[in-house]
Amino acid sequence: MKAAVWHGIKDLRIEEVSIPEISSGQVKVKVEWAGICGSDLGAYSYGLSLEAHPITGQKPPHTLGHEFSGTIVEVADNVTSLQVGQRVAIEPLIYCRECDACTRGYYNQCSQVGFVGLHRDGGFAEFVLVDEHMVHVLPENVSFEEGALIEPTAVSFYAVKESKLKAGNSVAIFGAGPIGLLTLLSAKAAGASKIIAVDLSEERLEKARDLGATTILNGANENLVEEIMELTNGGVDVAYECAGAQATITNAVASVKQGGQVMVLATFAKPVSIELGQLMFKASDITSRLAYRHVFPEVIDMISTGKLVVNPVITKKINLEDIVAEGFEQLIHDKKQAKILVRCI
Ligand SMILES: [Zn+2]
Ligand SMILES: [Zn+2]
Repeated sequence: MKAAVWHGIKDLRIEEVSIPEISSGQVKVKVEWAGICGSDLGAYSYGLSLEAHPITGQKPPHTLGHEFSGTIVEVADNVTSLQVGQRVAIEPLIYCRECDACTRGYYNQCSQVGFVGLHRDGGFAEFVLVDEHMVHVLPENVSFEEGALIEPTAVSFYAVKESKLKAGNSVAIFGAGPIGLLTLLSAKAAGASKIIAVDLSEERLEKARDLGATTILNGANENLVEEIMELTNGGVDVAYECAGAQATITNAVASVKQGGQVMVLATFAKPVSIELGQLMFKASDITSRLAYRHVFPEVIDMISTGKLVVNPVITKKINLEDIVAEGFEQLIHDKKQAKILVRCI
């Protein structure tokens, strides 16, 4: 079968690899669609997760891809909850199941947390092996494309759920890439009234407006924070940091109101400085969340019932053979792209 095998920095190759053999507790999935994520770009661009993972023991070369949907084609003898033919989305977290966080159910905080696709063979391939507990069955009215968006949607949905946001609140979303856009949709679904989207790209901002931003602001605007203050009568209730840069975290901290909150979803390539004095003066807080836990069923329901309409986040669909030039390189250079889905069959 064909797979996009990651060898190291700027080295992703389409290769012919053998179809993986199922082992105990596993399910083999024929992949339909797989999304390219910012963390895949991080792996490709600067070598995020080059070390062998403590649970899987795997390090590159391996197949990338952790946002995918597909059909079950084989189940191990001891897998009882799933059947061949089911349409599924995958929750790709790898965790030890033994540490303090895992035993409390906080599996996204496992001290050894990893991802299928970043720490073992993932979904940019015709077939992938996953563990029984990673599999979520899709209702008939959720498409495979939407299935591939459930993982990134879960990131945003979980951060919004964990934030202080209440219905009627105002929010600012820094960064209108896929996670920013999905955070916008989740905040809107949670009842945010004013939704201010900030980005450097006018195309991304237009997309944010289409998806429900009530105001779009260019991050290069020198009066950005003053404008947010005016629009919200003294600051937003929650600022979501979905960009991961010094300027955006600085503006997020400056934009929250007294008693407000900065929720960080982005990963940062470099350490940043934060003006704690501003947070102290406003008695506002800053927090962050990694990935998600226990929200896939809710996210699937939200999509199935039309409360989250995630399809517009897809800006391009490509074939696996074109993943480097048309996918990874395009996402790095063309900021109007949001989610690119890869056809894996
Ligand atoms: Zn991702
Ligand atoms: Zn653990």
